[in-house]
This record gives sequence, structure tokens and C-alpha cells, in this order.
Amino acid sequence: MTSEELKIKLAQLVNYAKDNLSLREEDESYVTNGLLAMFNLSAPATGVENYGDFQSEIVDPIVAYAIENGMAKEEENILFETKLLGLLTPSPSSIIDKFDILVSNTGIRSATDWLFNLSKANNYIRCVDINKNIKWEHTGKFGKIGITINLSKPEKDPKQIAAAKLLPKSGYPACLLCTENVGFAGTLNHPARQTLRIIPIKLGGESWSIQYSPYQYYREHIIALSNEHRPMAVNSDTLFRLLDFVDLFPHYFIGSNAALPIVGGSILTHDHYQGGAKVLPMFEVGTRKQYGGSKYKDVEVYVADWYNSVVRVSGKNKFEVHEIATDVLETWAKWSDESVNVICKTSEQHNAVTPIARKEGDTYIIDMILRNNRTDDAHPYGIFHPEEKLHNIKKEGIGIIEVMGLFILPGRLKSELECIKDYITGNKNIDFKELNNSENPMFKHAPTILQLVNDHGNSRDRVYADRVVTDYVNDACEQILECTAVFKNDEQGQSAFDKFMTQGLGLKEL
Ligand SMILES: [Zn+2]
Repeated sequence: MTSEELKIKLAQLVNYAKDNLSLREEDESYVTNGLLAMFNLSAPATGVENYGDFQSEIVDPIVAYAIENGMAKEEENILFETKLLGLLTPSPSSIIDKFDILVSNTGIRSATDWLFNLSKANNYIRCVDINKNIKWEHTGKFGKIGITINLSKPEKDPKQIAAAKLLPKSGYPACLLCTENVGFAGTLNHPARQTLRIIPIKLGGESWSIQYSPYQYYREHIIALSNEHRPMAVNSDTLFRLLDFVDLFPHYFIGSNAALPIVGGSILTHDHYQGGAKVLPMFEVGTRKQYGGSKYKDVEVYVADWYNSVVRVSGKNKFEVHEIATDVLETWAKWSDESVNVICKTSEQHNAVTPIARKEGDTYIIDMILRNNRTDDAHPYGIFHPEEKLHNIKKEGIGIIEVMGLFILPGRLKSELECIKDYITGNKNIDFKELNNSENPMFKHAPTILQLVNDHGNSRDRVYADRVVTDYVNDACEQILECTAVFKNDEQGQSAFDKFMTQGLGLKEL
């Protein structure tokens, strides 16, 4: 591309920003001059009115120009794109002002719609990557579950990994969730965040912020983060902050990962919550049992009819709901029942809760998912963690999104599941030497391949093989959810659950 063509692309980018990024007329020259300086140009193109496709016709050619002209290395393409689009995005304070005006004039829903659309339009949320994800739904024993093979995290190529290794760690920002990320230029091992904009809020009297998740595991996947870099914790104050959040954003649910490894999320170092607009599978299930007898007559307490162990508290009085949810949290923290292998504490704490709040009309609902992260000799990965035979599908901790029935499976499965199908169609023959080689990515699937070929043969057509492999993944996800249940869905488990509700919490079955 010539520099004359580049000038036209840059002018189109400014037009795009006026239409999609709330770039104001008053800022147009300022932004245009910033772009000229960035590309060492003396004057902009004039008379450019329209623009084509944002990614393929504007952004990609500009980034390619930068790489061709030595302004960025090939492996730094996303870093450069983010720097470019950060320049086009209004400043953090003007975003906050506009958000507040929208809240006052047209309500919170329109304010979050605007911020969400802006976060997509400036590629902070890269829809081009997220649209690559493979998604389906499965109707299982206790309702629908969602399954996503996550292809949106760009695979790092060996060049990027090698370059990242050489970089010194600065310790700034302290983690990916710190508010200091706003505007950060990024490196090959810390994403660029010039396009990130956050909104300050108050939760339980504390200063927090919201931002959208760049990964968007479900619709309007939002993150609330403490303005202070401090470890995750789930306590009575947490529950109150979750209830405050649904008062501020009644159209979103919000929940916290448990604050212990294995049962918690991937970031335990920064206190944060995850929420969003989507009705997650667990919310839709009914009641297995209802309990009464609390000192509050207007709060209802249920066991939800779900794969794992969920105490559901609902009522119109926020303080009463908070008090009973706190009672569940504090009672569970000290509850042991050796008949079902639940031991709350050894040298360290094992019982924990994943709490999720939402509002339906003026009713507050908190789902308290009971968790335990203890390991023993027979279960080195966790007694209530997926069994080893399921690790070919998911080995990582089962966090808040999965326990609610939405599975985010690793991207490697796309090619690996195709390869399993090849054995069922006879496209590939079983070679024990090859399958027993631990270097082979299919090594972990060897028992599955042998079982499926044994059950279905090796001369099926592609459609049949697709069905078999999808059914296998669906079943594995249901089993993973059952593994996380501290009270199993059998007579012994349910009677232990009942004991927790009655003897532990002092309630009566209705
Ligand atoms: Zn942090």
C-alpha cells in the first residue's frame, strides 16, 4: 500500500470512529493529527466520506502497512492494532461522563448497551476471534447445558513465545484485572489495553469498576473488579456486594468464583466477580426440595434440581436474603460429613462456596453452590474435580461458568475431536505404537478411541461419527458437573444434603 492509500484508510478509520466510537467533531482534528504523527505523514487525505468493512478493509490493511514499513514486528500485530484503535477511542473520563448521562436520561440498560457496543466496535472485544468459537447446546438429565470450544484466544506462535520469554517481568500492572491496565501498551506477555474503558461503581460502600470480558464466554460477559489489587475472598461482605450489583444492574446476574484453588477460577490474586446478560442453564432449573423454619417468613430456601449442590435463597427483602445466604456460607465453611467424604478443613480450608446473585422483578435470588477442593491419594486432582478419565476433555479447574452449566473447552479439541472421528470412519487405523506415544496429542484420547471404535466399529460415515463424538462430549460434560457435586445425586448424597439443610442450617423440609 502506498502512503496515499494509507491516508485514505486513516480518514475512513476516523469516519468509522465518528459513527461507532462516539468520537466527537471537536476531537476529530486532534485524533487525525495523532494518526499522522503515528505514521509520520504530513497531511491527511481530504474528501473521504465512506468506509468499507472495518476489519478487512480498514484495520487489517493499516496494520499490514505498519509491519511492511518496520513500525511493528509481525508477531506484534495485535499490539499495534490496539495502539491504533486506542487512539480512536474517547478518553476514559469522557466515556464515564457519557455513561453517566445515559444512565440519567435513558436508564442503566441503554448505558450498558452503549458501552458493550463500543467495546466491540473498537476491537477491545475482538468479535473476529470470538466468532470462530464452536458452540452447541445439549439437553441433559437436569436441563440444558451449553458447550463452547474456545478458539478465540489466539494461539501463540513459537516466535511469540520465544520473544515473550526474553522479556523482563516488570510487575506493572500487577495483574490482568488491575485498573492500571487502562491504556497500557502491552507486551508479548501482557495484553495491550489502550482500548479498555472501565466504569467506576460502588459496591457495599467500596470502590469497584466494571468492564466487559474480552473473551465473551456468553452474552454481555461483564467483570466487576475491586479497585484494589487484593486476593479473592468470599465472605458476608462479598454477598452484600453481589446484591448491591444487581440493584445497580438488574438486567445482569453476578457471581464470584470460590476463593480456593481447584474450585476457583484462574485469577485468585485479584478480587473480582463475573456477570452478564445471559440466562445460564442453572438459573432455569426448578426446585428439588423446599425448606422453611427460618426466622424470616418471606425468604424462601430451596435445593435446586441441578447436577451439583446448590442452595437457592430468594426473597424481596435484600437484608433477609443476605442474612440467610451468609448463614449458608458460614455453616458450610465448618460442615463435615465423612459419610460422603466431605471434610471442611485439614491443615487448610477445603469447603468453599460459589455464590451467584440475580434479580427477577423485585425478588433477589442467590444461588450458593457448595464446593470442596480437598485431594487425597485416590484423587490427586481433587475429590470433587473431574475424574482423570475426563481430563482429555477438561483438566483445568471447574470455575463459576462451568458449574452453572456453560462449558468452555480448550481449543485443542477442535482438531483432536476430528481425529477421533477419523478412527470411527476408518480414515485412520488404530496403531497402538502411535497411540501409546505420550508425545502424540491423541495419547490422552486413546481409551476413548478404543471404546468408541469397539462400540461403533471403524466403517461409519462422517455424519454418524459426528453424532457419536458429540454425544461423547455431551456425556463427558454432564459427568464433569456430577463430579463437582459435594452431595451426589443418589440416596446417600441427598440424605447427607438434607442433613446439612436441617441439622446444619436448622431448617425444616416443607
Ligand atoms: Zn490486580
